[in-house]
This record gives sequence, C-alpha cells and structure tokens, in this order.
Amino acid sequence: MNENISDVNPYNGLPDVIKDFRLPDKIVIYDSTLRDGEQMPGVSFSSDQKISIARKLDEIGIPEIEAGFPAVSKNELRTVKKIVREGLDARILVLSRLKKEDIDAAIESEADLILLFIASSPLHLKYKLHMTEEEVKEKIVESIQYVRDHGIIPSFSTEDSTRTPIAFLRELVKLAYEAGARRIGFTDTVGCATPQTIKYIFSAMRKTVPTPFSAHLHNDFGLALINALTALCSGATHVCATINGWGERAGNVSLEQLIMALKVLYNRDLGIDTTKLCELSEMISRFTGIPVPKTQPIVGYNAFTHESGIHAAAVLENPRTYEPISPELVGNKRRIVLGKHSGKHIIKRRLDEIGFKTDEKTINDIVSRIKIMGEKNGSVSEEEFINMIKTYK
Ligand code: MN
Repeated sequence: MNENISDVNPYNGLPDVIKDFRLPDKIVIYDSTLRDGEQMPGVSFSSDQKISIARKLDEIGIPEIEAGFPAVSKNELRTVKKIVREGLDARILVLSRLKKEDIDAAIESEADLILLFIASSPLHLKYKLHMTEEEVKEKIVESIQYVRDHGIIPSFSTEDSTRTPIAFLRELVKLAYEAGARRIGFTDTVGCATPQTIKYIFSAMRKTVPTPFSAHLHNDFGLALINALTALCSGATHVCATINGWGERAGNVSLEQLIMALKVLYNRDLGIDTTKLCELSEMISRFTGIPVPKTQPIVGYNAFTHESGIHAAAVLENPRTYEPISPELVGNKRRIVLGKHSGKHIIKRRLDEIGFKTDEKTINDIVSRIKIMGEKNGSVSEEEFINMIKTYK
C-alpha cells in the first residue's frame, strides 16, 4: 500500500507548515554501515558479510555505499576492491585521511569516490592532530593535488566541523575547492549540534563554493535524523546514514528512519524498495550479534505491536488508528500480543482464531489468567497461551 502524505498526517504537507523547510530537488543518501557502522565498538564484518551488505543495499536502491577505509588493513583494501568489482549500480565511496599511504590505498581500491577528510576544530588540531591551522591548510592543498595528479576528483570533508569557527571552515572550503575538490562534506562528529546550528553552518557554506555538500551526523543527543533533514533543507544534497543508525558511540542517522521520514512525512520518494528495510536491519543484527532494540522505529519488533485492549481493538477495525503506516511498507509485521492490557475483545478473537469455542464464564476466566500472567511476565507468548487453553479441554 502506498502511503499518502495527507493520510498519514493532515498537517505535514500544508504549504504554511513546510514553507521554511524546503528539501532540495536532488537527494542522495550514502550508506556508511560498512565504514562508520563497522566502527561501532565490538563490530567487525567479514569480507563476505560486507559484500552481502553492499549487494543488499544496492538491491534496494541505495545510490552510494561508503564501503570502507582501505588504509585500515590489507584485508579491508581487498574487500573494498571486491565490492567495487561487483559492478553494482551504487557508487562506491572510500574514506581516506590526508596521508599518502591512505590515499594510495584509496586509489588502489578503485572506488568511484575518495572521501578525503581532516579535522578542523581547535580541539582536534591541538589534541589529536598536533598541527597548526597553517599546517592543516598545506596538507589539504597538497593531498587534493596528489589525488588530482592521479586523474581523480575527490570529495573533501572537515571532521568536527560543527565545533570549528565559521571563518576557518569557510577558508578551508574555499581552499579545497580551489585545489580541485568537487564535493564538500561537513560533520557533526560528536553529535552535539542543534538543528539550528546545522542550518546556520550549511546556509553559510552553500554560499562559499558551487559544489554539492554532504552531511555526516552523529546521534549523541538523538538529533541525528532531524539534523539530516535540516541539513537537506539548508544546502546539503548528500546525507550519510547507516542501517539501524549503528556506528560509533550512539551511532548515526538511521537509514530506515531517514528513508521513511522522507517518503512518508515529507512526500519524497527516493525510489528505494522500503519493503526490504526490516530484512536489512535483521541482516546487520545477525552479522554483528547485536539485537535490534524492540522499540527501534520502523524495524523494531514493537514498531507495529499492540497489547492494550483499546488499541488492539481499534487497530483491528482500522490500523490507521494506532499505526502511522502499514508494517508491510517496511517489511515489518503487525503483532497483537496478549498481556496485562489485553481486553476481552482481543482474547475472544484469538480464541476464535484457534477454533476454541467455550462459554462466557470460561472466557472471563481466561482473560483474568492472561492479565495475571502478563503482570508477572510482561506478556503471554503464543505457546503459553496455547498451553493455557489446553487446560480447559
Ligand atoms: Mn562518524
């Protein structure tokens, strides 16, 4: 079923509501599950897993895949190369510091785009890079030139952009553009920018040079998604996301949430097959051994699960009452679970479904047992329910 913007929410599409929040004509999502996602503590994908993930992302229509950081290891470089040679429709991106060995590995990977980056904030310059502003500027020019000498046009990003003074940021962007970078990225590396800050930075930067701008945003305060949407409405055309939003610390913009918010809430269909989003999420969970939180939006077990009697009864009459979209749209399932909040209506319906006919007194007894069990254990599983019914036979 296709979701109509005004069916989902009557306000979202109103001209007065969206007048200050205009998305660009072209939006490109680049998935970084294989790079930032893999930097999630305790996570390391095998080469085969990375290839499977890349294929699946390509299959659903993700246009750009950041496949890795080739300088990390020989194996990483080999894997990225394999992904490149899969001949996917998606463009393959790789990350590289402004170091000759990184750039050489990135070039050797044969990726479609090299994402050069260097930190720009005073904090990172002093405590991480141990470099002066002048040294950073030299490094930018020299590295972009080096890549250009190989006939390759790179992207250039500042790391920790949102904690970098705007004048210095502007200077670096102009420098990178003049040196030959033709895509410029900004990063909210520790996820500490408000949407207002994102708007301020992107609006200022879009006036500096005529290149596409990209955004890489972290979720430390849970603002990554709104920051991504804000970046898009303030000058960015490319946004980074990861499956389940997984990545360093609190993670990144969630790919599923971004795709669905754009499609359903902002009426922008990117041509991605959303019915495979749950499959993609489960795949990553299986590969990492990390469960997807039950309450995860879109793909979580509870995202379309109802226990409350009032909710469940209404959902059965019209799912829109308590579901913004149909679970099928994202490959999820509607589940009605029994527990403390289950009403008689739902329990009767479940009894009908399993073909158990009984009198009113027994039904009341079952209802009260389910409530007691639900209070004790949280919910009543299918198996527990069937076993309970057997005691009446
Ligand atoms: Mn990151």
